[in-house]
Amino acid sequence: MNRKRINIAVDGHSSSGKSTLAQQVARALHYTYIDTGAMYRAATLFAMKERLVTPTEVNTKGLEQALERMYLQFRFNPASGSSEIHLNGVNVEKEIRNMEVAKRVSLVATVPAVRKKLVTLQQRMAEDGGVIMDGRDIGTVVLPDAEVKFFLTASPQVRAQRRHAELTAAGKATTYEEVLENLLLRDRIDSTRTTAPLRQADDAIVLDNSELTLDEQFDFMIATVRKKLELFG
Ligand code: C5P
Repeated sequence: MNRKRINIAVDGHSSSGKSTLAQQVARALHYTYIDTGAMYRAATLFAMKERLVTPTEVNTKGLEQALERMYLQFRFNPASGSSEIHLNGVNVEKEIRNMEVAKRVSLVATVPAVRKKLVTLQQRMAEDGGVIMDGRDIGTVVLPDAEVKFFLTASPQVRAQRRHAELTAAGKATTYEEVLENLLLRDRIDSTRTTAPLRQADDAIVLDNSELTLDEQFDFMIATVRKKLELFG
């Protein structure tokens, strides 16, 4: 039994498999998994309901002011066995996964006031350790002191195929081309925004998983984390 509970950051491109892997690692270690993408997606849903964002424009000032009325919370759902995001008390876990949200989320994520609010929440959740958090800026901004940092990536085509398969399995009608286009656009906005762009932390371990199975990636991540934990005795 490891006494020390570390924090683990998992960053990377859209649909690089971060959340699947982070969830598996969290289960294996009995750590808490935090999906920060779900928080930005829920904030986007909020902005959509408030009519403050279109696929091409976000009303930064309006959103900044509205944010004090946005309350986000993860609640455990015994039926799914995972924590699900709630926006102002309503479970929006399913709703945030649709393409309408995907088309707007990277724009909403450029708004500094949104990032400030969400980063504060994320840092609070990780205060006591034992957290594995996935996102874009976890190793660089949210948890720069995380004991282990991974950066996951894969070719855009492989990522689009995976995402398209996921959406199709969930009964959401999209084409491969639409998914690929959305991924490339989100990559571009995420990597070039001024506040906390998607960037590999200098001390992150890079995992290009284009040619790796989930099992291979999981084994590698768990072995890396266990090695680190041994250092703490
Ligand atoms: O991880 P996921 O693809 O659900 O994230 C959705 C979007 O949220 C990303 O494309 C990015 O614009 C934004 N995001 C972010 N910072 C994070 C997590 C997500 O900007 N830490």
